Amino acid sequence: MKILVTGGAGYIGSAVVEQLVDNGEPVVVFDNLSQGHRAAVPPEAIFVEGDLADRKAIDAALSQHRPEAVMHFASRTLVGESMQNPFLYVGDNVSNGLNLFKSMVEHGVKRIILSSTANLFDEPERMPIDESERIVPGSPYGESKFILERILHWLDRIYGMRFACLRYFNAAGATLTRGEDHHPELHLIPIVLQVAMGKREKVSIFGSDYPTRDGTCLRDYIHVVDLAQAHILALGALDGGSRFYNLGNGEGFTVKEVIDTASEVTGTKIRAEVGPRRAGDPAVLVAASGKIRKELGWVPQYPHVRAIIESAWRWHQANPDGYAK
Ligand code: UDP
Repeated sequence: MKILVTGGAGYIGSAVVEQLVDNGEPVVVFDNLSQGHRAAVPPEAIFVEGDLADRKAIDAALSQHRPEAVMHFASRTLVGESMQNPFLYVGDNVSNGLNLFKSMVEHGVKRIILSSTANLFDEPERMPIDESERIVPGSPYGESKFILERILHWLDRIYGMRFACLRYFNAAGATLTRGEDHHPELHLIPIVLQVAMGKREKVSIFGSDYPTRDGTCLRDYIHVVDLAQAHILALGALDGGSRFYNLGNGEGFTVKEVIDTASEVTGTKIRAEVGPRRAGDPAVLVAASGKIRKELGWVPQYPHVRAIIESAWRWHQANPDGYAK
C-alpha cells in the first residue's frame, strides 16, 4: 500500500518510515524540514519538501503520488511551548491538519493514522490510563490533537475516512540508524545521554516532591521501534473500522530511575541536580495498552527502560553530533 507520511523526517516519523520501507511498502515523505532531518529519510522513500500550511503543496503531492493511506506526524509537539504560544498549536497544528484532511477528502484518500498524545489525559481518574478515560487536554498542544481526533470522527461519519488515533506516552530509544536529534533538546533521555557524553554539565530534575516512589515524576517510556510496529498494525486494521489506542508499556519509571539506569548503561556517573517543578507535569502517566494488545496482537519488544536507553546510547555514540546537516 502506498503511504504518504507527513513529518517522515522527524524522530518518530522516520522510525516508522524505516519500518515501512523494510516491509517493502512504497513511501512518500512530506516534510518541511523545520524540525526533521533530510538524512533521516531512507533513500528508498520519495522525499517531498513541503509545508502543510501550503494547501497547494499537499494537493500537489497527493495528486502526483496517489497514496492509499496517510500517516500524519508533522506537528509541533512541545507542551511547554504551547503554553507560551497557544496559537502555534490550536492555530497551526489544527489548520495544517485541516489542510491535509481536506486534501485527502478531495483526492479520495480514506485511511489515516494520526499521532496523538497522552497529554489528552490531564486529570486521569484511573492509572494506568485506558481508552475509556475522560479526555481533559493538559495544554493547547493536547487540545490541538483532541480537535484533530474529533474532526476525524466526523470525516469518518461523513466521508467514510477510516482513522486510528495513537496516543503516545513517552516515545524514546532509537533504531540502529535513526534516533532523537531535537534543537533544542528538551526530552529527558537524550538530555541525560548528553551529560554522559560530556556535552552538558548536568541534568536538572524537575521536582522531587511528587507523590511517587522516589518523589520524581513517573512516566511510561515506549521504544520508538515498538511505536512504529503499532502504526503498521493499526494501518492493517483500518478496514475493520476507526479506532483509538493508548500506547505505552503499562509500566512507569521515575526520573531518578532513568538517570540511574543511564549511569549504569553508559558507565558514567551522570550529574543531576534537583530543580523546581516544570509547569504542566502530572506526577504519573502510565498507559493501559491492553486494547491494542488484544485487538491487534501488539507486543512490545523493548518494554524495559534499560533496553530503551541502551538503544538510544548506541545511536548517540554513533552520531555524536546528530544527523549530518
Ligand atoms: N524531565 C526532567 N528534566 C529534564 C527533562 C525532563 O526532570 O531536563 C522530566 C519531566 O519533568 C518529565 C520526564 O522527565 O517528568 C519526562 O519528560 P520529557 O520532556 O522527556 O517528556 P514528557 O513527559 O514531557 O512528554
